[in-house]
Amino acid sequence: MKILIDESRCIAAGNCVMVAPEIYDQREDDGIVVLLDDSPEGAALQAKAREGAAICPSKVVTILD
Ligand code: SF4
Repeated sequence: MKILIDESRCIAAGNCVMVAPEIYDQREDDGIVVLLDDSPEGAALQAKAREGAAICPSKVVTILD
């Protein structure tokens, strides 16, 4: 799994962080997403990564298998 983010589309909603805080974080100053782990390993973490991508209202997160 490889995760890509397009910061320019992020609206700082924080949904991704709520479902997968091991993978996504937000910058302190403006809330824009920060990718903590761009290639998570293990089924549980990968499922959370996918959930975070699916729940993002701006389609910021792309997951490559
Ligand atoms: S859910 Fe999407 S818009 Fe919200 S912080 Fe995460 S990447 Fe940004």
